[in-house]
Amino acid sequence: MKRHILFKILCPVTAVCFLCACEARKEAGAVQDMTLNTEENKVIKIRENTENDRESDREKGLEKPVPETVSGPEVVIDTDKEEDFYISGINDEIFSRIEGRSFAADCILKREDLRYLHVLHKDINGVTHEGEIIVNKKIASDVLEIFKVLYENNYPIEKIRLIDEYNADDEASMEDNNSSGFNFRFIQGTDKISKHGMGMAVDINPLYNPYVKEKDGNRIIEPINAEPYTDREKQFDYKIEKGDLCYEQFIEHGFIWGGEWKSVKDYQHFEIPD
Ligand SMILES: [Zn+2]
Repeated sequence: MKRHILFKILCPVTAVCFLCACEARKEAGAVQDMTLNTEENKVIKIRENTENDRESDREKGLEKPVPETVSGPEVVIDTDKEEDFYISGINDEIFSRIEGRSFAADCILKREDLRYLHVLHKDINGVTHEGEIIVNKKIASDVLEIFKVLYENNYPIEKIRLIDEYNADDEASMEDNNSSGFNFRFIQGTDKISKHGMGMAVDINPLYNPYVKEKDGNRIIEPINAEPYTDREKQFDYKIEKGDLCYEQFIEHGFIWGGEWKSVKDYQHFEIPD
């Protein structure tokens, strides 16, 4: 089959590509059901990796382009795993997405200290999605490897989007159960930079794995809509537990888990200790 199309944007009704109708029909049947069944008639993106693409990717090395963004959740079909997990420097295009957001005006890190990771992940229904996360270059390969293992073993992660899509608002990102990494900030009331501020921490499925702190008889829960998931005796989707694959992977790569802290519990949080 002639394969020259990088992206196909399918019409939800006809399942024919808006951009290039000539090749879309052959594969339309395979995706039509999914197209029609989605609640929002999501735009479905199919990536085809041609030999030429691979060649030019190799030439580019790490500087691969930021994936084209489309509105709404993305569903990836028939992808080449090796091509879908990669690390990139913070090129101008990526920087324009984070500048003034996670890369705040007072950020003391340099662009060169950070890396952009492109990954795949599966949600609780086994549907594959594209993910994007930024972390410190020191842990980039570890984090990429962790997400690869989690994907290959069907460990469910709902969303991995740049926190900048939430205007770097951690609470909004957590409420939406978005997994994230770098977000520059000083720890409140100090001149110390948080682990996320250094890009040395990753939060996984935060809505179902909240931050919980008891203070003066009050309980602080972040995100605020996570109260149902503070009872860690209960079973529910996306829950991180000691000994599960997510926990084991981060621990193997030198992280510690906030779920094991004494004074506060941060069940979503994995960080590299000092
Ligand atoms: Zn965290």
